[in-house]
Amino acid sequence: MNARAPLAIRFGTLHDNLGEPKRNGTLLIEDGRVYAVGGSETEIPAGARTIEGACVVPGLINAHAHLEGSGEAQTMTVFVLTTPTQRALVCASNARKALHAGITSMRDLGSSEKLSIDTRDAIANGTIAGPNVVAAGRAICMTGGHGWFVGRQSDGEWDVRKAVREQLRDGADCIKFIATGGVLTKGAVPAVEQLGEDELRAGIAEAHKHGLKCAAHAIGTGGIKNALRAGIDTIEHGHLIDDEGIALLVERGAHLVPTLAAIRCILDGGDDAGMPDFVLRKARAIGEHAETNLRRARAAGVRFAGGSDAGTPFNYHDGYAYELELMQSMLGMSPREALRATTVNSAAALGLQRGTLGPGEVADLVVLARDPDADPRAFRDPEFVVKDGAIAFETR
Ligand SMILES: [Zn+2]
Repeated sequence: MNARAPLAIRFGTLHDNLGEPKRNGTLLIEDGRVYAVGGSETEIPAGARTIEGACVVPGLINAHAHLEGSGEAQTMTVFVLTTPTQRALVCASNARKALHAGITSMRDLGSSEKLSIDTRDAIANGTIAGPNVVAAGRAICMTGGHGWFVGRQSDGEWDVRKAVREQLRDGADCIKFIATGGVLTKGAVPAVEQLGEDELRAGIAEAHKHGLKCAAHAIGTGGIKNALRAGIDTIEHGHLIDDEGIALLVERGAHLVPTLAAIRCILDGGDDAGMPDFVLRKARAIGEHAETNLRRARAAGVRFAGGSDAGTPFNYHDGYAYELELMQSMLGMSPREALRATTVNSAAALGLQRGTLGPGEVADLVVLARDPDADPRAFRDPEFVVKDGAIAFETR
C-alpha cells in the first residue's frame, strides 16, 4: 500500500486543539493533510485505509532535545569518547525512537558540528526515519561556558554575531545562546550569568535579521532577564526565575520551555547511577526551587511550551510522555493543558504551522489507546503515529 494513500481514522475522542474535543467521529486524511472531520457515519473514500482508535491527538512537538545524547550518565565524556560518525548513527537511532513515541516535530538545541542539521536533512529526504527537525546547529556559549565541549565558544558582540553567521552558513533553523551556567558542565554555575546582555542582543539581532528564532539556555534569573531584555523568543529551563523575571517574561510574550524531565531524571537516577557528583549536587539545588518558581510563573500567565531536554542523563528520546506527566504533577496542568503545551504552544514557539487538526492542516497525529483526560499516562503507548499524512509507526 502507498504510504501516502488516503487514511480514515474512526475515533472515540479527537483532541484537535480547536475547542472542546470531538466524540465518535471520522478524520479523513489525504495528500498529507486533514481533508475533513466528520461524524461516525462519514463515508470512507475508495482506497483509503481505515484505522480505529480510542483517542487521536496532534503529533507531539519536543521543543528542546539533543539528538546526539541518549541519556548517558556522563554527558561531557560522550563527546570525548565517540567519533562524529558514531554520533551521527546515534542521531539516526534517536530520531526514529522519538518518532515512534509520537513526536512528529522536534527542535535540536545544540549538537556538535553539523550533526543536527545533517540529521534534519536526512529525515527530510527520506534517508532515515524521524520527526521534522528544527535545528540550532552548535549552541553559542562564552569561552568555557556551559556546553563549551560541544558548543561554539564566543566572546564579545562581533564574535557572537560571527558565531550566528556560522550557524546560518551551516543551515541552522534557529539559534541557541547560553545565558547562564548549567548542570552538566563542570564548573558552570547555573545561577550565574554567562553571555552578557550586550552579547545576546547582538547575536539575537543578527539571527532575527535572517528570520531565525532564538532560544536561551537560562536557569538563573539574571540570565533569564538578560535574554528577555535582549529580545529572546524562548527561555529554556527557567528554573530559578524570580517575580521580576516572570513579569518580564509575560510582558515580552516569550515562551518558557521548562524541561522538567531534565532535572527529574537526574534526581530519579540518584547517587549510584554513575553521574558525576557535581551534576547531582547542582540538580538537587535547582530541584528544590524549580516547582515553586514555575508554578508562580504559570499562575502569572506565562506561556509554557513543551520540551524535555531529551538526551540528558536518563532522559530518553522515546520518554517524552514523562514530561507531559510532570507538567501535570509538578505544575498542576490538566492533561489537556499539557497536551496543548506540547503541541500547539510548542509549534508557536518554533514558528511551525502545526499542532491543531482542523481541515486543511498538516496531518501529524498520534492514535492513543486511552484518552489522556482519563489517564495522565496515556501518552506512553502510541498505537499509530502519522507524520505528514503517512503512517510512520504502528503497533497493530
Ligand atoms: Zn538542552
